[in-house]
Amino acid sequence: MRTTKSPLYALTSKADVRRIFEEQLKKCRVDYFDFYLAHNISARSVDNYRNFEVYDVLEQLKKEGKIKHVGFSYHGSHELLAQVVKERPWEFCQIQFNYLDWNAMDAKKNYEVLQAAKLPIISMAPLRGGALATLTGSAKAVAEKEAPLDTQASFGLRWVAGKENILTVLSGMSNLEQVKENVQTFTDYRPFTEAENQLADKIAGILQKRGEINCTACNYCYECPRGIAIPAIFLMYNEYKADGDARAFLQKYGALKQREQAGKCIHCNLCNANCPQLLEIPALLDKVAAEAAVLRKGGM
Ligand code: SF4
Ligand code: SF4
Repeated sequence: MRTTKSPLYALTSKADVRRIFEEQLKKCRVDYFDFYLAHNISARSVDNYRNFEVYDVLEQLKKEGKIKHVGFSYHGSHELLAQVVKERPWEFCQIQFNYLDWNAMDAKKNYEVLQAAKLPIISMAPLRGGALATLTGSAKAVAEKEAPLDTQASFGLRWVAGKENILTVLSGMSNLEQVKENVQTFTDYRPFTEAENQLADKIAGILQKRGEINCTACNYCYECPRGIAIPAIFLMYNEYKADGDARAFLQKYGALKQREQAGKCIHCNLCNANCPQLLEIPALLDKVAAEAAVLRKGGM
């Protein structure tokens, strides 16, 4: 299926919507897209979506036969989602949907809004950017003991596929083994049971208590003018929160170039505008820098 999206954050006018669309057709060497999304509607981008009449342009492109199905991807509260859903006759919606975000973020409530609107769902980040396929510590131990028939990835993917109204599960794969594993999961699909739902809640509860930063390593914040290594810093911090190994955290953090470290952030806020998780990145970098300083002071 030919699928791509309109980058709301990059729009400066209504004319941009069609201009970017035509460029995408050319770059992809196609004359239509099966699925086309208004990309990443959120509290930070909803004004662009509304002011530049994005849906109306996409509807016109659909009439011209250049789009088969119009939908949107979304990050944010269920209240805003309910508004957006009602505004236009969308055909599908893509949300971040996995067993950790079910309770930790607004995923459950967003799912309920989409269910009520009978809007098919594309699940993005079904393994939370890989975090649910690389469980550590007690979460890993529980998963291995109580879900022996599954890999961590297949457990997470089956959880998503077990929900109603899922159009597709968007699983990012970075090597052939992962492709094979995912194909296997859905070839021999075993429906998710109630006991497994409880297990997913149990693992999610363990993860939530750790105080990790909700970064999915999407890298949309890569254009930091100071070159701060944002996702890498959050990843090493999260590993430290998961395994408690302060020494390893400080080693990795210290191995970054000085200019890439959290303390070099100048609070320009450019990164915040692009973060689909709506993280307050500068404040979180301050927190990491402060915690690293305390650990160093403590002789780590
Ligand atoms: S706020 Fe900090 S991390 Fe974000 S773009 Fe600006 S300098 Fe980079
Ligand atoms: S944009 Fe947000 S979620 Fe994505 S890598 Fe950066 S901090 Fe993480």
